[in-house]
Amino acid sequence: MRKIYDSMEYQPNMQVLDSDLLEQVLDKTKNFNPYQYTKKDVLSVLEKDNLSISDFAVLLSPAAESCLEKMAKKSKLQRYKYFGGNVLLFTPLYISNYCENECVYCGFNCKNKISRSRLNAEEIEREMIAISKTGMREVLMLTGESPTKSDVEYIAKAVSIAKKYFSTIGLEVYPMNVDDYKLLHQSGADFVTVFQETYDSTVYAEKHPAGAKRCFPYRFYAQERAILGEMRGVGFGVLLGLSDFRKDMFTAAVHAKLLQQKYPHTEIAMSFPRLRPYKNHTETNPNDVHETQLLQMMMAFRLFMPFASITISTRERSGFRDNVLPLCATKISAGVNVGIGGHTENEQKGDAQFEISDPRTLEEIHNAILNQNMQPVYTDYINTSLL
Ligand code: SF4
Repeated sequence: MRKIYDSMEYQPNMQVLDSDLLEQVLDKTKNFNPYQYTKKDVLSVLEKDNLSISDFAVLLSPAAESCLEKMAKKSKLQRYKYFGGNVLLFTPLYISNYCENECVYCGFNCKNKISRSRLNAEEIEREMIAISKTGMREVLMLTGESPTKSDVEYIAKAVSIAKKYFSTIGLEVYPMNVDDYKLLHQSGADFVTVFQETYDSTVYAEKHPAGAKRCFPYRFYAQERAILGEMRGVGFGVLLGLSDFRKDMFTAAVHAKLLQQKYPHTEIAMSFPRLRPYKNHTETNPNDVHETQLLQMMMAFRLFMPFASITISTRERSGFRDNVLPLCATKISAGVNVGIGGHTENEQKGDAQFEISDPRTLEEIHNAILNQNMQPVYTDYINTSLL
């Protein structure tokens, strides 16, 4: 049996940054109480163009649920002001589902009996060729969190293969030290996304009983280490429904905001994943995060950080995904297969992380964007080596 360690303690080989960002974030979010606001407070915040942290708290409140139409109007204005009608498309590619963690909510957790697999370099290249043939120019590569089965060199190799076919490469892998991020950046990676899952350290410890992920502060500082490793952008997210979703959303956004103030050149992205069923575990506890609340969180964040990118994933159904594009979201995944492999005619090699809700093809999503008089965008960044 693995040793259960204190989730606030760094483990050997985990780099400790000289940064007080965690203290700052916890300090600015500790008195968050969304139940103290009234509709009048919400309407007054919606009159403003630049929102403070306390204004953002007001928009996350239950009182704001009765002002969603007004919020949508304002959110749409901001969305079009900074992004026009552009919708950036990307495809996720899972290259390995080995994981050494035991997150209780995830299908890849090492105790879950699923088919495990890892693509080799040749298989990765075949997948990338298949994806790039669809016209896609941005890929997000994902692994389970296993530094043994998918070490940094393996991921760097996958990135260098991706560089041949894509303008932009994002990574959603385990948190690493600055030098590892530097190596991945030199291999061609642009973005790193790490979900904190929940910022409630007690719930965090309960939901992450073992493995490197159990270390709360090491995960918290992943984005800052990625920036120091020269990544162009970083992504944030909480798993809505795992704990108090309003408090988690508030803290994630404050984390993103303070990091952007510290490193103004960095591109910031936010995702809004909700709990999904997975293989051998079909019951989820969404903790009352329904579409209404999800929409509220997304629009509140759009107003709080109008320049930040917002991603809407296939965890949500097609109608919802289409509706949030003109209101707040700027980036959408398409042609998704969350198993290992599966973009080629070869059979998918490993089981999926969760069940998706929007199985549409890239072409269908492209057309759905056009039908809303919006513009599907395949690259907003020129990789001159592809010219
Ligand atoms: S959430 Fe990530 S770290 Fe946790 S079990 Fe799933 S893949 Fe592994």
